[in-house]
Amino acid sequence: MKQNDYGRLGAVLSADLINLPEMNATSIQQLFEAHGIRHPEVAAADVDGFRRWRDQLARAFGSGDPAEQCSAVNDLLAAATIRPWVTTHDGLQPHLHFVPDSADLLSRVKAVTAGGLAFVLCWEGGARLGRCLRSGCSRAYVDTSRNGQRRYCTARCGNTEAVMRHRSRTRPASLGGPF
Ligand SMILES: [Zn+2]
Ligand SMILES: [Zn+2]
Repeated sequence: MKQNDYGRLGAVLSADLINLPEMNATSIQQLFEAHGIRHPEVAAADVDGFRRWRDQLARAFGSGDPAEQCSAVNDLLAAATIRPWVTTHDGLQPHLHFVPDSADLLSRVKAVTAGGLAFVLCWEGGARLGRCLRSGCSRAYVDTSRNGQRRYCTARCGNTEAVMRHRSRTRPASLGGPF
């Protein structure tokens, strides 16, 4: 795995954690499994820790202000235990992790998310850590597109917003509501 991918992985995991509709041991564990986090067993006692971490991660997304994003990510880096660690797990070529494989799950998730956000912020730019612009959505996303012009969490939200804009342009204001 290229280091760039590992960084993105941590950033995308951050966004997915922020967007999780409900945070309980099962939903968090399913998310970690989907992201290939190793030994992803979440105990009920850990849920509060993940919830607090999710709230801290949220600050890194959508501000659009580099100084504010740096401050948010620095707070995350300070709160996580980051220790560069090279590993060959699962038969892979030696590659860099932000934390030893033996650390507990919350520590590993903190390190991979904080480190991943730092990576994307510095290598791809803070505008890549966005919030959906559709009114009423505001889900977090990581813009991995080539041109970096993404403004919505999904194509669906982008289309909904485009239709709304089109309607508000084409419908006479005096007629008001939908027909
Ligand atoms: Zn790895
Ligand atoms: Zn959205």
